[in-house]
Amino acid sequence: MIQNQRQGNEKSADTIIVGGGVFGLWAARHAIKRGERVLVLDKRRIGDGASGGFLGALMPHMPDFWEPKKQMQFDALSAMPKAILGLEEDTGIDCGYRRCGRLMPLTHEKMPDNAKRRIQGAKLYWVDGKGAHIYEMSYLPPNFRDTIAEGWLNEAIAPFGATYDTLSARINPRAYLHALATYVRSSDHGLGEIRECVQVTSFNEKQNSVSVLLTSGETLSAGRLVIANGWEAYDLLRGAEAKVGDQLITGRGVKGQALLLDFEHNDDRPILYDNGSYVVPHANNKIAIGSTSVNDWMPLGLGRLDEEWATESFAGDVVRGDPMAGKLIEASIGSFDHQDMDFYEYAMKLCPSIKNAPISERWANIRPRNTVRDMKTGKIGTEPIFGLLDGSNRVEVKVSGFKISLGIGHSLFA
Ligand SMILES: Cc1cc2nc3c(=O)[nH]c(=O)nc-3n(C[C@H](O)[C@H](O)[C@H](O)COP(=O)(O)OP(=O)(O)OC[C@H]3O[C@@H](n4cnc5c(N)ncnc54)[C@H](O)[C@@H]3O)c2cc1C
Repeated sequence: MIQNQRQGNEKSADTIIVGGGVFGLWAARHAIKRGERVLVLDKRRIGDGASGGFLGALMPHMPDFWEPKKQMQFDALSAMPKAILGLEEDTGIDCGYRRCGRLMPLTHEKMPDNAKRRIQGAKLYWVDGKGAHIYEMSYLPPNFRDTIAEGWLNEAIAPFGATYDTLSARINPRAYLHALATYVRSSDHGLGEIRECVQVTSFNEKQNSVSVLLTSGETLSAGRLVIANGWEAYDLLRGAEAKVGDQLITGRGVKGQALLLDFEHNDDRPILYDNGSYVVPHANNKIAIGSTSVNDWMPLGLGRLDEEWATESFAGDVVRGDPMAGKLIEASIGSFDHQDMDFYEYAMKLCPSIKNAPISERWANIRPRNTVRDMKTGKIGTEPIFGLLDGSNRVEVKVSGFKISLGIGHSLFA
């Protein structure tokens, strides 16, 4: 077991990671591969955060109006099969990854023109390091006979046809997280430890180390700290007035919910996506449906959004000092709103064949969404923030990615 800090300069680990979601556990895997002793601390249990759901869509940004963020995600999605294979070989756990592709209906007369631009963009940008065209986006005219859409995507909802891409994939998030945690805990390398139900309240960087303070009053120290605690990172970073460049790191938690259906299928169908609704076929005769996006979900006015919806004044200090407020927030995180079912209704329109499939599980959680302004455009972006804190040699931040995190976690830490 990795030691607690006692007196003097003894370090608890080479690297401490706050948060055991997909970002934190990938940070741990990479650090262990480098031979570092790693301690992952999670306030709850592994899988209780946003990474522990079942939707698992790995969907590329549209291949038009290309920019560095899209290239970063493309590189990550391209590298994913190798990253997953390595994890599966190390742990013997099947992560349920399949490059299943994605169908998107063209619902409006202007959409075929957009589709042409994207199909052209895929030829230009979805290429490997040697410039070879490796994934494609194609156009399916209305009436899907003899295509991958037949009997799956509703023709009536796609009067102008559909696009199909071969880059999109799916993964089973729970199996994926379980594999990552299993790797970190593995006695084969003996370098990793995960402590659950341990909350970090602040951190402090010194010349030769960085320490974290836990709610228990215990202090742990390491040579390096990775902050990867999802939407709650904004509260932890605000306490330290943490910056990227010259601006404070801000963000908010956006609640989402999803459903899991039992439906017999051959697991050879693509993801369907339109209008915020996803239909994601998974192995073992499961279909996941998602998802909602609710900004104003926190009870008791404990999280308020400013006028531009840029920062959320989550009253973390109040919650830490008031167990009842903390309990109310925990209950709110996982509570499924049975009135908020438009995403499900629309998914049934997209894919009528699953209309009578029984619901086997309902799930809700909170995604992190950065609201840091783009330095060039001033726009509030949703890209992930990763890298060293401004002025720090020891504290790294790995936060957000909003709806694309499951497909980039492996690459942010290489
Ligand atoms: C309904 C829904 C559907 C989604 N669908 C998709 C999808 O299809 N594809 C996709 O790519 N993404 C999807 N996402 C988003 C994605 O799941 C998240 O963005 C991603 O999992 C975030 O990972 P993370 O590691 O940053 O955070 P998390 O997985 O939330 O992990 C953070 C961990 O930090 C812990 N923690 C918090 N505070 C502290 C503290 N102070 N001390 C110690 N530990 C702490 C938490 O307990 C938690 O376990 C979805 C999210 C939701 C809610």
